[in-house]
Amino acid sequence: MKVTQAEFVISAAAPHQFPQDALPEIALAGRSNVGKSSLINRMLQRKSLARTSSQPGKTQTLNYYRINGQLYFVDFPGYGYAKVSKVQRKKWGELIEAYLREREPLRLVLLIVDLRHAPTEDDCLMYDWMQHYDIPCLVVATKADKLPRSKWQKHIRLAQQTLGMPEGQQPLLFSSESGLGREELWSYLVEAIHG
Ligand code: GDP
Repeated sequence: MKVTQAEFVISAAAPHQFPQDALPEIALAGRSNVGKSSLINRMLQRKSLARTSSQPGKTQTLNYYRINGQLYFVDFPGYGYAKVSKVQRKKWGELIEAYLREREPLRLVLLIVDLRHAPTEDDCLMYDWMQHYDIPCLVVATKADKLPRSKWQKHIRLAQQTLGMPEGQQPLLFSSESGLGREELWSYLVEAIHG
């Protein structure tokens, strides 16, 4: 998809701040520093619309980006950051749960993992949560450029097994550095929105 317009809309701290125009939404989840902002910027071909590596774990808001006036990317706060307080963690859980449970325009959650490492316990919890709420989820394994091509399949299988993905489903390979996977991911998103 050709992105002609991409704009930050709102940092929503509570459900009443979510947009009311019912455009389809693609949510993005992943642990802090996994490469989520870089992926958003690469998908939108913008250098720094989504902030990269700023105060990991600090923002407990859902950041909305409107694309081509057609859909939203909803950037979840990164999880798994050690210095986040218990209170913040609880707030994070409540906001995400409210969103996943009640958000009618949600079409798909992208769970971003790092191809180099096995998914973390938090990644597995997030994945299980999506199954529990019956929300379509695509696992995207990013930073592929940091591994030699010969190791990709082994690491894809590791992610697949650790998350307990069903047979026949596998993570999509991505690199924000090289743009690998961008077209494939857009095709998937367009299908999720219109299909
Ligand atoms: P976030 O906290 O999940 O939003 O992560 P960022 O997008 O800020 O990325 C964390 C770090 O990983 C930054 O230094 C990025 O430049 C780097 N990074 C992110 N994606 C990639 C990628 O696909 N390839 C490489 N080589 N580095 C990446």
